[in-house]
Amino acid sequence: MNYDTYGSSAVELAIDLANADRDDPQWANAFLGSHDDWFTPGTSFALTDAETGQAAETAELVRAVAVAESQPDVLNRLNELLALARPRPYATDHDGELHLHYARPDAPVLEQLTTTVAMGLAQVVVQHGWQRLGICSAEGCDDVYVDTSRNASRRYCSNTCASRSTVAAYRARKRA
Ligand SMILES: [Zn+2]
Ligand SMILES: [Zn+2]
Repeated sequence: MNYDTYGSSAVELAIDLANADRDDPQWANAFLGSHDDWFTPGTSFALTDAETGQAAETAELVRAVAVAESQPDVLNRLNELLALARPRPYATDHDGELHLHYARPDAPVLEQLTTTVAMGLAQVVVQHGWQRLGICSAEGCDDVYVDTSRNASRRYCSNTCASRSTVAAYRARKRA
């Protein structure tokens, strides 16, 4: 599996969005700022409350796809997400590599975000299978992940959760 291309790495943006902490009312703005390399330079990151709500809806749909346990559920939820996308792809080599962008470069930031996330997630699901998406197995963590490992063996959202669980399992064995 080659995850070096834009299409595949766009799924990482989707996963980050699904896992974003939304307690702060300005969360979407902060998210855009910390992922600014995904958007056309000069795009305004100002969002109305309604747009922030739409970003949350997109985040929930990504999560719904990732935690779905059957193909019909995956398809329903993925198609709901894709219905929000406005793809207008174009080819670019702005970073030195020839690749596709999914949203028109002058689209408002929310349209760029939703379209990139929906197309990136959809591409991984149809090319590599929805089983590549999952929810973290660590106790107390419900973040989602995309499994880019060669043998599809991932179970945790992050190295932090993986090592925390290894330590917990070790302690449990010692107690037993
Ligand atoms: Zn690019
Ligand atoms: Zn986790």
